[in-house]
Amino acid sequence: MTTTSEPTLFDMPAPDTGLEACRFVWDSLSRHEARALWTELTNWVDWLRDTYQLDTKIKSCWYRHSPVLYELTALMAAHKAVYLTEPDARDAYREDLTAWHTQWMRASVAEIAKQMADCTLDGCAYTRHRPVVDTEMAAFITADVARRSTTAPVGTSMSAMSDDQMSDLVDRGLATQLPPTDHGQARVESGGTHWHLNPLTNTWEAQSTN
Ligand SMILES: [Zn+2]
Repeated sequence: MTTTSEPTLFDMPAPDTGLEACRFVWDSLSRHEARALWTELTNWVDWLRDTYQLDTKIKSCWYRHSPVLYELTALMAAHKAVYLTEPDARDAYREDLTAWHTQWMRASVAEIAKQMADCTLDGCAYTRHRPVVDTEMAAFITADVARRSTTAPVGTSMSAMSDDQMSDLVDRGLATQLPPTDHGQARVESGGTHWHLNPLTNTWEAQSTN
């Protein structure tokens, strides 16, 4: 966690996906990267406000509004994704230019105008408030996690599980004990799969029912 009280996106634990933040995630940027993105974005927003005559909707204090900053960053990324092209595609007719206007820009600008309705040239009305967190949320999540199995879900492609894991499934009614085999081998059915206990390893091994 950072030493400030402001939570940022990348303070939060995330599954280990191997993915990383793209360069439009403000929270993740270094000083150098932030400077570069501010330059790119302010130039683009200047152009947008002038070209589309949006100065009464995207007001001059837009950079102060955290939600507007993120929305305009995304809108710029979408705009450049369609207007910048590989040289060999430069002459192609295309429809995503219209999509940028009708799907992305109009909705974004309408939302931004709403958020900036009270701002004037004399002053910005934006104040950031912290959302209330329900005090019961942590206990709710703890209870939800505690009621779950430590084993993989039934139906996954597991081919072996420990005796403890199988006992857990039986206890929770997710596996049913079957009569032992002719050789006295313990058997269980779970999720359409038959499992036999290997007495040498004390491990349950999946066997296809087909
Ligand atoms: Zn403002």
